[in-house]
Amino acid sequence: MNFSHSYSQLGKEFFQRVLPTPVTAPQLLLFNDELAQQLALSPALISDSKLLAQYFSGNLLPEQANAIALTYAGHQFGGFNPQLGDGRAHLLGELIDQSGSRFDVQLKGSGQTPYSRQGDGRCPLGPAIREFIMSEAMFHLNVPTTRCLAVVATGEPVYRQQTSPGAVVTRVASSHIRVGTFQYFSAQGDRESLEKLINYTISRHFDDIAGDDPERVVKFLNKVIDKQIDLIIEWLRVGFIHGVMNTDNTLINGETIDFGPCAMMGTYHPGTVYSSIDSQGRYAFGNQAQIANWNMARFAETLIPFIDNDQEQAISLVQEIIYGFVDQFNQKYQQMLASKLGVRDNHKFEHQVAKDILQAMQERSLDYTVTFVQLAQSLTDKDVADKLHGQLGKCYQQWREQLNMLAIDAQSAQRVMQQTNPLVIPRNHHVEQVLAECENGNIDAAIKFIQVLKSPYEQLTDTHLYQDLPIDNDSGYRTFCGT
Ligand code: AMP
Ligand code: MG
Repeated sequence: MNFSHSYSQLGKEFFQRVLPTPVTAPQLLLFNDELAQQLALSPALISDSKLLAQYFSGNLLPEQANAIALTYAGHQFGGFNPQLGDGRAHLLGELIDQSGSRFDVQLKGSGQTPYSRQGDGRCPLGPAIREFIMSEAMFHLNVPTTRCLAVVATGEPVYRQQTSPGAVVTRVASSHIRVGTFQYFSAQGDRESLEKLINYTISRHFDDIAGDDPERVVKFLNKVIDKQIDLIIEWLRVGFIHGVMNTDNTLINGETIDFGPCAMMGTYHPGTVYSSIDSQGRYAFGNQAQIANWNMARFAETLIPFIDNDQEQAISLVQEIIYGFVDQFNQKYQQMLASKLGVRDNHKFEHQVAKDILQAMQERSLDYTVTFVQLAQSLTDKDVADKLHGQLGKCYQQWREQLNMLAIDAQSAQRVMQQTNPLVIPRNHHVEQVLAECENGNIDAAIKFIQVLKSPYEQLTDTHLYQDLPIDNDSGYRTFCGT
C-alpha cells in the first residue's frame, strides 16, 4: 500500500511512535471492498483475506506503513482534559484515493500506547462491528463521516462488564485532526506547534485559502464552523444522536467520528438521549446544534493569538463569529426541514408549518422516519393523506395549502422528499439484533443489513425487514462508549 506520512512530518510533539500489539488469531470478519477500491488497494491484496487479516489486526505492518498514536486534548462532558491522545489506536499513514484526496488509515483496538492510561488498548467485537454498520449507514445516507475499511477478530477476549471477543477496526478519515488537537497545543502554550497545525490543516482541508491572505485564520475558523453546521444539519435530518460530542470527538473536517454511544431517534422528541453516561442529557438529539456551537467556541479560543496582534480586537472578532453560529444554523435548519417537506426553495415557505408538524409528531409520539415517508406518500395516496390528517391535525392541511400556494405539484414535492427522507435507518433494535447474531458467529447478519443500508432511499426486496418500529419504543434502550 502506497502510504505517505504528511502528518508525522509536523514533528515529534504531534504523536508517539508505537507498534500495535500482535494478536493470537486474526480473522477478517468485515471488509469494505468499495472503500478499498477507492483507496486503490491492489486486487491481489483485496482478494487475500489472510493477508488483510494480518495487516488490519496490526500483526504485520504493510510496507511503507508507520504506526503512530496521535496526541490531543479535549473537553469531555464540559470538563477539560489536557492530555488524551490515541489510547488504543495506531495511524498507519495516509493513502491518496482515486480522485486525489488524502485519507488517514488508522487501526483501533490495536493495543496500548503511551496515551492508554488505565485502558487495555483493545476493542470488543460488538462496538467494532457497530462502528462499521453505523458509519456505512451514515455514508450512504449522505452524511459526512469517517468510514471503516475492515473489522478483524483478534481471537482474544476483552474484559469489560462481561467478557467478549476482541476485534480491531480500521478507520478511514479525511484526517484525524480534532478540535482537541488544537486545544492540546494551546493548553501547552506551544505557539509554534499550533501555528504548524493551523498551516497544515488549512493546506490539507481548506487549500482555497491563500497562504498570504491576512484574514486566512478568520476564514479558516468560518469554514470549520460551516462544516460543523452542515454536519449537525445532516444528523438532524436523519435522526442521528451522536451521544458523545466531546471536543476530542469533533473533527475539523466536519466528518462524523466516534460511534461508541450513538443511536438513532425513533419517536420524535428533541430530548431523546440513549447514552448510559449522559445522565444530564447534554448530548440529547435537540441539543446537538448548541453543543457544536460550544465546541466551536473552544476551537476559536485556540486561534485567537493568530487572528490579530491586538488581543482584544481578536477576541471581539471571534465572539462575533461564534454568536453568528445560531443564525447561520437556523437558516440551514429551516432549509433542511423545508426539504423534508418537499420545498427546495424555502424563501416563501411558512416555517411555522414545519415547527407545528414536528410539535404534533412529538405530542402524538410519532416515529420521525416513518412520518416523513408517509407525508411524501400522502401526496399521491388519499388514504395515507386522511390518516395523517387525523394524526397530525390542522398542520397537515396547512402544509398542503403551503405547497399549493407555492405552486409545487405533488410529484415534484414527492421527489424532493424521497431524496431527503430515508426509507430505512439503522434502527437501534436492529443494530442490537444484528450484533447479537454476529457475536454468535453469524457475520452474514451484518453483511445483509449493510446491503440494505447502502440504499436508504430505495425500497429493495429486503428493505422491509428493517423498517419495523421497536415494540417497546426503545424505552430502556442504553448505549455505551464501547471502551
Ligand atoms: P472515546 O470515548 O472513544 O472518545 O475515548 C476517549 C479517550 O479514551 C481516548 O483518548 C481513547 O484513546 C481512550 N480510550 C478509550 N478506550 C480505551 C481503551 N480500551 N484503552 C486505552 N485507551 C482507551
Ligand atoms: Mg474519541
